[in-house]
Amino acid sequence: MSSHVQVAIIGAGFAGTVLALSLKKHNVTSSVYESRLDGNTQGGNIALAPNALRVLDHVGVYDDVRAAGFVYEELGLNSNTGTNLGEFLNGSEKLYNYPAIRVRRSDARRSLLRKLKEEAIPVHYGKKMMKITEESKDNVAVVFEDRTQVTTSIVIGCDGVHSKVREYIYPDVSPHHNGIVGIQGTAFGEDLQDQHWPKALPRIVLGPEEVFGIVPANPAGTEIGFISTMKAPIGSPAYEIAMKPDKADFAALLRRKFCSTIWPVPVQVLADRVQPQTLLTFPFNIMPDIPKWFSPSGRVIFIGDAAHAMPPTGGQGAAMAFEDAETLSHVIRYINRAAKMYDALMRKSPKTMAELLDLWCNHRKERVSRVQNFTSRSGKVMTSPPGYLQRVVKEWYVWAGLNWTGRTLGAEWIYQYQCEDMNGLLSL
Ligand SMILES: Cc1cc2nc3c(=O)[nH]c(=O)nc-3n(C[C@H](O)[C@H](O)[C@H](O)COP(=O)(O)OP(=O)(O)OC[C@H]3O[C@@H](n4cnc5c(N)ncnc54)[C@H](O)[C@@H]3O)c2cc1C
Repeated sequence: MSSHVQVAIIGAGFAGTVLALSLKKHNVTSSVYESRLDGNTQGGNIALAPNALRVLDHVGVYDDVRAAGFVYEELGLNSNTGTNLGEFLNGSEKLYNYPAIRVRRSDARRSLLRKLKEEAIPVHYGKKMMKITEESKDNVAVVFEDRTQVTTSIVIGCDGVHSKVREYIYPDVSPHHNGIVGIQGTAFGEDLQDQHWPKALPRIVLGPEEVFGIVPANPAGTEIGFISTMKAPIGSPAYEIAMKPDKADFAALLRRKFCSTIWPVPVQVLADRVQPQTLLTFPFNIMPDIPKWFSPSGRVIFIGDAAHAMPPTGGQGAAMAFEDAETLSHVIRYINRAAKMYDALMRKSPKTMAELLDLWCNHRKERVSRVQNFTSRSGKVMTSPPGYLQRVVKEWYVWAGLNWTGRTLGAEWIYQYQCEDMNGLLSL
């Protein structure tokens, strides 16, 4: 059964690949256009919570991603002085049907792209979208850097934080740096053999100013990754060092910060033995609120980081991109069905495209904003207390939260989300 609606997806990152696979399940034809070349993969690791894994299961890549990553449920929390504050359930087969998984970003993306190949969904690499040149009642025209053009019924921007598709609708909107730089790095098993690691990893250590997360990222748990943050406003020496492509100076800065006895031994060891070529530094970008994630005609839409980039401290950025993609695929299925009915009956579709997109966008905006509030609240608790007393209060707050609200910390509504519930909303 062929689809009436033809979709051009800009960007083969997490949102774009999951969108193409979800549309295929609804018999909607799409083509993906990616600016990078085939095989060009980003570094670093990513944590996938149950709501992200549920979507990956729906598109058929969960088993593959699970086999490549480190599977866990509890995330331990420690003070830097060694007090165990408790364990947070970052995933749970029993409560959410899924654990949490930390995996190399490149492995997760490779699984998705392999699935697209299996499903015969075309991915055009080296296609950097420059601009949208025309948007009519029926079509949208897109031009790429190589001067080729594509005309299609719907264009969906999955092109990340510096989205060209978003720029077409909102030329004045851009993300801003919030003065924090995130840090990721990896050390390998053989470098760490002589160390006594806390018996249960992953673990987050709440320090005097920063937090330091220690999370393995391969199935055997021998590839130990860490995540931390550093205050580095634009123009500061720390920012200049962090943004240099050569990470040798940054590795030295990291050692100065974390190889001191105020940190437990495993933190010192990781900071000391991190492989500089695995170091990644990334400014935290915050997107201002965007009223609608689509053009008035509904033929140009954007999702994922293009719509709502958030700091990675809550571990929900990719999950939100996956959820946007799967829920939007239900909307496009409706639009496709309506297009067919329109052809068959020569009139009357149940809801206009803009009405359907409005329902979807309002629903997604509300959820993304709740998730952002929840994760930034916990992010604030875990970072930058100004003094000793505040630090003690913070540790007590974390301990009390885990003891009173339980190990879920009230995050059930985040992890139990079902994208297919979108159908109920659309048929109202
Ligand atoms: C270091 C780091 C750690 C993170 N950790 C986590 C985590 O643990 N858990 C979590 O859930 N989230 C995490 N996130 C957030 C998560 O990575 C993002 O939210 C997610 O990747 C968003 O997916 P996306 O598809 O919208 O954008 P992206 O993944 O950025 O994909 C955009 C794609 O579009 C392509 N593109 C860009 N411009 C164009 C153009 N003009 N034409 C064609 N193609 C284009 C890009 O090459 C890219 O492939 C982290 C982010 C960072 C930076």
